[in-house]
Amino acid sequence: MIGAGQAAIQCIETLRKKGFGGRIDLVGEEIHLPYQRPPLSKKYLAGELAADRLTLRHPNYFDEQRITRHLGCRAVSIDRSASKVTLDDGQTLEYDALVLATGSLPRKLGLPGSDLAGVHSLKDIADADRVRSEIHPGRRAVIIGGGYIGLETAATLRHLGMEVTVLEMADRVMNRVVAEPVSRYFEAEHAGHGTQLLLRCSVTALHGDASGRVCAVETAAGRIEAPLVIVGIGVIANDTLARSAGLACENGIIVDEYCRTSDPVIYAIGDCSNHPSLRYGRRVRLESVDNAFEQGTTAALNILGQTQPHDRVPWFWSDQYHHKLLIIGLSQGHDRVVLRGNPKDHAFSCCYLKNDGELLAIDTVNQAKDQMAARKLIAARAKLDADRAADISIPLKDCVL
Ligand code: NAP
Repeated sequence: MIGAGQAAIQCIETLRKKGFGGRIDLVGEEIHLPYQRPPLSKKYLAGELAADRLTLRHPNYFDEQRITRHLGCRAVSIDRSASKVTLDDGQTLEYDALVLATGSLPRKLGLPGSDLAGVHSLKDIADADRVRSEIHPGRRAVIIGGGYIGLETAATLRHLGMEVTVLEMADRVMNRVVAEPVSRYFEAEHAGHGTQLLLRCSVTALHGDASGRVCAVETAAGRIEAPLVIVGIGVIANDTLARSAGLACENGIIVDEYCRTSDPVIYAIGDCSNHPSLRYGRRVRLESVDNAFEQGTTAALNILGQTQPHDRVPWFWSDQYHHKLLIIGLSQGHDRVVLRGNPKDHAFSCCYLKNDGELLAIDTVNQAKDQMAARKLIAARAKLDADRAADISIPLKDCVL
């Protein structure tokens, strides 16, 4: 198992639960046992959750399940003809099946000043610790990117009393993942909590002071003084190892519905993999805990010879202040968005429909009622009556044509 995140632990657990008695080696670049990343931009960053509460399994689990750990270790090459992986400490590990769960890497800004002290991404515990050490009430942080990381971090930093400016290049936040009413709702919530939000704002440079620390962000609209900058402009698949081993890669490691790469004894799961979605009829690369969990399970079952395709409706969530955003399904290809409820009531949904009424996806904001029904309806390719769906008093399941 190369990579020690959510996908890896799920795969390991499924292998053992389904009776796999062989040797399992877990290789992880970080020194930590597998841990949850979602709290890193929320409770962990706020200092409300200790590091030992992040772990996905108790340390004893790994001894009990006979998992050989290679933590703080990087896999540097795969020799497919000899079925061996070489680690950066010189060890080689032989495999009958190899699982790549290498995750994703933060996109770099690539602008002058991006490497100055005080400029951070937020991907792992070490990043979160570095940001935490720079949090001081009253200080200004500039956050580049109005996506999940940017907005969740903005909410946490405001909660801790910092002054916060979020710079988003697009004309609305989370523009690729939610419908416009949801973007506008969250923009208003962040503004209401005192965050300065600049849309259509491109950054041109970061400036440093004499000590080499960031002191200002230059944008097309002017200069913002700030000693702390957090960059959350998306991630790229970590597929370097797979590429150098000659595995097919394109926006991630190409796998089939069984999570098998172009080499049938090598699997790829989680953020790093690009898989065919049976529900949507196209290839997707998903960055979510849910996908890591599902693909981890699928790979394990297929390693054990229980041919099982990965075919679940994906879902994503984000907590910002006390608001719960849940996105179910993939909205690309919709030609109509139906708003259910009024954002002023702080509980509403947006249904994405194709022209024949097929429900592709839904965004729900503090609207748990729609979630279970939507999952089933999206999986079943149900068609909705758009006029009924617009009436929040009618349960979603009763809107089916
Ligand atoms: P993201 O959600 O893809 O958002 C990145 C945002 O930055 C997008 O709105 C993007 O706009 C914008 N952007 C890109 N380049 C920019 C630039 N130069 N200046 C200003 N804005 C720019 O990515 P993220 O927030 O970095 O999060 C990374 C990953 O962390 C996610 O994909 C997810 O896997 C994970 N994560 C998930 C959650 C959650 O599910 N709750 C929370 C935190 C992190 P365009 O879309 O127009 O490029």
